[in-house]
Amino acid sequence: MPRVTARPAVLLVDDHPSNLVALEGVLEPLRVRTTQATSGEQALKCLLREDFAVIILDARMPGMDGFETARLIRQRARHRDTPIILISAYHQDESSIIRGYVEGAVDYLTKPFEPEVLRAKVTLFVDLFEKDRELKERAARLREAQAELLAREHAALLEAAVQRARLHSVFTQAPVAIALLQGPTHVYAYANPLYLRLVGRRDILGRPAREAHPEIDGQHVFELLDHVFRTGEPVAGKAIPIQLDAPARRETAFFDFVYQPLRSAEGQMEGLLVCACEVTGQMRARLRAEELSASLQRQHEALQKSEERFRSLTHAVSQIVWTTDAEGRVVRDSPHWRAFTGQTREKFLDGRYGWLECIHPEDRARTVRRWVEALRVRKVFEVEHRVRRHDGRYRHMSARGVPVVTEDGQVREWVGLHIDVTEQRRSEQSASFLARASALLSTSLDYEATLANVARLVVPTLADWCAVDLLTPDGGLERVAAAHREPEKVALVHEVLHHFELDWNAPRGLPRVLRTGEPEWMPTVPESFFDAGARDEHQTRLLHALGLSSYLCVPLLSRGRIFGALTLVYAEGDREYEEWELRLAEDLARRAAISVDNARLFREAKEAVQVRDEFLSIASHELKTPLTPLRLKLHSLRRSARSPGVKLDGEALLAHLDIAERQVARLSRLIDSLLDVSRIGAGKLELDWEDVDLAEVVREVVGRFEPQATKAGCRVTVRAPGPVLGRWDRLRLDQVVTNLLTNAFKYGAGKPVELSVSTQAGHALLLVHDQGIGIDPGNLSRIFERFERAVSERHYGGLGLGLYITRTIVQALGGTIEARSTPGEGSTFIVTLPGVYAEQALQTPAS
Ligand code: ADP
Repeated sequence: MPRVTARPAVLLVDDHPSNLVALEGVLEPLRVRTTQATSGEQALKCLLREDFAVIILDARMPGMDGFETARLIRQRARHRDTPIILISAYHQDESSIIRGYVEGAVDYLTKPFEPEVLRAKVTLFVDLFEKDRELKERAARLREAQAELLAREHAALLEAAVQRARLHSVFTQAPVAIALLQGPTHVYAYANPLYLRLVGRRDILGRPAREAHPEIDGQHVFELLDHVFRTGEPVAGKAIPIQLDAPARRETAFFDFVYQPLRSAEGQMEGLLVCACEVTGQMRARLRAEELSASLQRQHEALQKSEERFRSLTHAVSQIVWTTDAEGRVVRDSPHWRAFTGQTREKFLDGRYGWLECIHPEDRARTVRRWVEALRVRKVFEVEHRVRRHDGRYRHMSARGVPVVTEDGQVREWVGLHIDVTEQRRSEQSASFLARASALLSTSLDYEATLANVARLVVPTLADWCAVDLLTPDGGLERVAAAHREPEKVALVHEVLHHFELDWNAPRGLPRVLRTGEPEWMPTVPESFFDAGARDEHQTRLLHALGLSSYLCVPLLSRGRIFGALTLVYAEGDREYEEWELRLAEDLARRAAISVDNARLFREAKEAVQVRDEFLSIASHELKTPLTPLRLKLHSLRRSARSPGVKLDGEALLAHLDIAERQVARLSRLIDSLLDVSRIGAGKLELDWEDVDLAEVVREVVGRFEPQATKAGCRVTVRAPGPVLGRWDRLRLDQVVTNLLTNAFKYGAGKPVELSVSTQAGHALLLVHDQGIGIDPGNLSRIFERFERAVSERHYGGLGLGLYITRTIVQALGGTIEARSTPGEGSTFIVTLPGVYAEQALQTPAS
């Protein structure tokens, strides 16, 4: 805040009040404050109170005159520089003027003086005074500010020193290891005692980290330091293992740490602050705790297992002891009975038959009958019935009660015992069930009938309804057998499959079982299953109609192959599949699968035998066909040779021999075919690669078969405008053309046969076209298989091997063969062969 300063004052000193008034009048226009003094003493007093810009002093005053006053004023240090104007009423001699100046006056005016002159002088001094005072004030303010700054600096320095000392002591006493690293090589600038102890060295200060700890090279520590220094991003790690080579520290230690980048005020990276905290102890403790918890868990599991074993043991041998009075009334509690059935004491002790509600409704009448009878005749009571356990499941129990008779022959009470025989009954049931199933499965090799029998056997013992599904060769599914407790619903079991969309990737159900070979077991089928599992509303309705409350689906597996599944269903909620039923179903499925597999193998073997027999009969017939004319020819030749009158000329002999040779050739072709088939079967078809002109081969074969063409009445044309050269096997190609050509004669109905050879896109193309009987579309691919024929053997001889061998050769040469045909109009066999290297631009023959 600027300081308000009074306008500077002028001290007027004169012993004549009139003079003072006059002086005031003169100074009036300057609007300066004036203080009046009528003597030198009074003037000095005024000066004690205030500083004046200028003092106007009358030189002549009685007592202390102006000079004296001026001298005294000058003696005071405070006023040494206050300007004094001496005024004298009359002209003084020069010596007084000099004296005035000597005494410190700055000016000397003699009356009468020009008021203007005095005003100018006073104005000058007042201004000077003001300037001076301002300067002084500014200097004072500056000094004050300086002093304040100084004080603040002092305080800050002190604070910094205190902070530093505190930081140092914090660093020194901190329970964490702290170090300051400087520069890109991480030179140690500071390390607190804990840090030094941790690294086991005292000589690290001033050394780069890599040099200070060569032993931790390769543990990714330096790389991390480099990274933090390079990126300026802090890094923290938790429980990081580090192998320190500190003395007495061979083991791995674990650390939590922070690498914090340190920057200069300008933001330049300067170094890193490393804070590390050893957590080896905690880690060990944690590991130990984990180990302990694992071992506890193991112990717990073992305990649980042994408890379970114990429980099942007690279940297995669970025996219930009960007593009644002589009349068969339950009067005493049986904790065994109540623990087993979960009945309340009140219920159990309620009247005569409180216990009866725990007996299966179907077994109650029989039980009561036996009990009443035993009471009547006082003989042992024995019955086997199902008793409802506390969990709602029924257990088979064998009950036995005996009367306790007193000495006088009276029945005092009855003591009874119930023994759980469920497992025993189950294994008996399973064994007898499996025995029946095995008997059924071995009766027939017609597996469809067998499976239908199995389905019937399963219902109602093991299911309310069931289905057997087999995978078909085309990847579909066939429901080969189904059974239902209510026979009229069997059709629904079949129908439900048709409404089933077989999603082979489904996470559950039949597709999953067929995909994975794992059984599926759903003790209780939730209501939601109906909507989620069904494809449409109709299927949901079907499932509701069939009933589905618990189900099992087990795969049919044999020789590692899944070929179907058996689905068992309890329709109503009163029965749930238990594990023993799953095992039983699996056992049954295994036996059924083996039986199906055997039946299938048997069927296949039978078919193979049949095919072989058929082939043998055809083959013998075929082999015999050329033999008969051959034998006849030889016979007639022998006869001619023996009869003396008949002389055979050379030509007639040649004609006979021609016929004989043709038959021999036919025979050897048949035998060659058979040999080829056995070679193919053994994978021994060898090829003799050479340069061949397909057109030439075709022409050769056609030429060779001219007699047969004539005999068949077929006119043969060959369209081969130029050579078609490639690397193939000449004899095998000859065989291909021969087979196709002889078939064309055989099935060509005496109509023209056309062969054409050309090239197309680097492939050789051979077409053999006839206008004969043609081939049914359904047989077009089959005829290339072994022994496969599409004509009756009565009308056409043949082994069904020609096309099979042809295709095998073509494929071995890297080519393809196919047949196209319109029945009754003829067939075209198209052979393509790769590897043409000399081709001629040919017209593609009309197909
Ligand atoms: P094969 O002629 O000895 O029966 P192939 O393997 O040569 O044996 O022929 C298989 C079947 O293909 C024949 O039985 C016949 O039904 C049919 N087939 C072959 N070529 C022709 C053809 N050109 N025209 C009509 N059917 C033919």
